[in-house]
Amino acid sequence: MENVLLVRYGEIHLKGLNRPFFERKLVEGIKHALSDLGATVRMEQGRIFVLGIKDKDRDEAVDRLTRVFGIHSISPAVAVEKEWGAIAGSAKELMQRTLGESEQATFKVMARRADKRFSMNSEEINRELGQVLLESFPGLSVDVHSPKIKMCVEIREKAYLYCEEIPGANGMPTGTAGRAALLISGGIDSPVAGYLMAKRGLELSAVHFYSYPYTSERARDKVVDLTGLVARYSGPIRLHLVPFTEIQLAIYEQCPPKETTVLMRRLMMKIAERWARADGALALITGEALGQVASQTLESLCVTDDAVDMPVFRPLIGFDKDDIIDIAKKINTFNTSILPYEDCCTVFVPQHPVTKPKVEDLRNSEAMVDFECMIQKAMADTETLIVTQSGSEKAEA
Ligand code: ATP
Ligand code: MG
Repeated sequence: MENVLLVRYGEIHLKGLNRPFFERKLVEGIKHALSDLGATVRMEQGRIFVLGIKDKDRDEAVDRLTRVFGIHSISPAVAVEKEWGAIAGSAKELMQRTLGESEQATFKVMARRADKRFSMNSEEINRELGQVLLESFPGLSVDVHSPKIKMCVEIREKAYLYCEEIPGANGMPTGTAGRAALLISGGIDSPVAGYLMAKRGLELSAVHFYSYPYTSERARDKVVDLTGLVARYSGPIRLHLVPFTEIQLAIYEQCPPKETTVLMRRLMMKIAERWARADGALALITGEALGQVASQTLESLCVTDDAVDMPVFRPLIGFDKDDIIDIAKKINTFNTSILPYEDCCTVFVPQHPVTKPKVEDLRNSEAMVDFECMIQKAMADTETLIVTQSGSEKAEA
């Protein structure tokens, strides 16, 4: 009897000729997630089998797989020879384990015969195995409609038995959609935005703007931590930490006060776009939601978009804050996001920001200051880290 993790995948099924590419990326993602656990990964007839995981690592392996995009569900299974005695024996063992302390339970056997050479058909397996289990466990009764325990049996090149189906993260395998750059603040929204886009198969770069000494070292560490939490799903992230104080002061001192926030947003976008290009990313991602604050009115978003040529993805555009918070909790970024901190956006907030800015006005204000020079300096002084789920290190120049 051998322990196996049976992995089902979702939307990739819809792919036509490209399917092998998506499958290969999914297998890579799984191997990467389990690299230190000694796993071997095999793909067969639309299923992925993970073998060689030690008993003590099994829960950890399943937990990690629930964060690999492209996986629909995971079943910890046992694999045995396709021989009735072995199948019945391991079904009893598995039932014992699943029942645990409880004495009473309803159940149903659900067999699938992928290998049609096996002498019994699905119906026969259901009936015979049901009988074996009823005889061995007096507290069991059959319920075909809503059983508490589903004893699943798949007859393939081996027989696989399992009772559990753990939901996966779904989405598309990482690296199947190219790369985009996330503007990440220390807030609740942007990590969620990054997660949602990574879920569609994007690899991520990230850009963060800080305004030392107006924002603290702690605020910076918090952003590195948040990036690490997103990297649990997306894989390694190149994080660019851009000094923004000089630009912010120039905006504050030389431009109309009511335009401060929108101008700041435009300059952030411009710098992020340059880092995105440098990393081979084709789009930007922000955590903006329509109407959430003055800089997120439709007019403001248009003015922000005008600053760059790349498409800007805003996966939260139609979300309420409560819905965003639910996802932040689910992906475990919420508690870090709400730690007290100062963001450069909150340090220089105008009292009466424009809510309907005009592109022309902003372009004019921007032209009054030599921002290009400051942008280049900020880029030159940027610190780049490679952030993974287990820490961060400086990127090589
Ligand atoms: P968040 O919770 O993500 O901070 P928010 O609702 O506070 O979002 P804003 O502060 O207006 O909204 O920022 C809107 C978006 O701009 C953020 O979601 C993020 O993508 C980007 N952004 C804001 N501040 C920064 C920053 N310091 N560095 C990088 N990106 C930022
Ligand atoms: Mg913010």
